[in-house]
Amino acid sequence: MTYLNDGNAAALWGHVSIFGSDNDATSVAAIIGTGLGGGVITGGRVITGRNGFGGELGHVLIPWTAIPGLDGLLPACNCGRTGDLESLCSLTAIRRTLLPHFLSRHPDHPLAAEPDPARAAARVRGLAEQGDPLCRDIFRVQARALGLFFDEMINVFDPDALVVGGGAVETNREFQEWFIGEIRAALPSQREEQVELTIHVMPRGDTAGARGAALDAARLVRERGL
Ligand SMILES: [Zn+2]
Repeated sequence: MTYLNDGNAAALWGHVSIFGSDNDATSVAAIIGTGLGGGVITGGRVITGRNGFGGELGHVLIPWTAIPGLDGLLPACNCGRTGDLESLCSLTAIRRTLLPHFLSRHPDHPLAAEPDPARAAARVRGLAEQGDPLCRDIFRVQARALGLFFDEMINVFDPDALVVGGGAVETNREFQEWFIGEIRAALPSQREEQVELTIHVMPRGDTAGARGAALDAARLVRERGL
């Protein structure tokens, strides 16, 4: 018996809140946090794989050189890969890679005066929401990375829905809509049947992991009498 990791649990919550608990739908959820979590659900079941590492979406490599504005940047991830989704789309990526990169081109930006890199990274979202151009550029990179990633998932799973949670979408409606629009802008053109595919914002994103874990526990009780 394995318990779902937090990303997979959040993906399950997102799926059930969109499609209900009794369904055959397929969804892919990406949740932006310190790292990049998420999961894939097909036929109403979370893909966990042989060792429980299924749906480790953050470490899927993306064609990141297609993202404008990175100019020779080599985005490294803690896992050892260069250019996976988490290396660009996480709070860690903002702190280690994106904020230093953009600040090096705009040394007069107010965040350049913040001595603590973690505190500077944590301020990027609020400034982006207020329309700060450099901080918007950082979130645009994250959205473009997600768009390239979702295109891969569309071709593998032909899903019913895509779901985004965490970071960029725990913001006001205007910013959420801008961010989703930037994801769509990075998607290569889709087949006619897939053009209408909806990108959802994770419902009640801050508690999605706990809600999903509860759903999974309830399923285990139902199926195995545990
Ligand atoms: Zn990685």
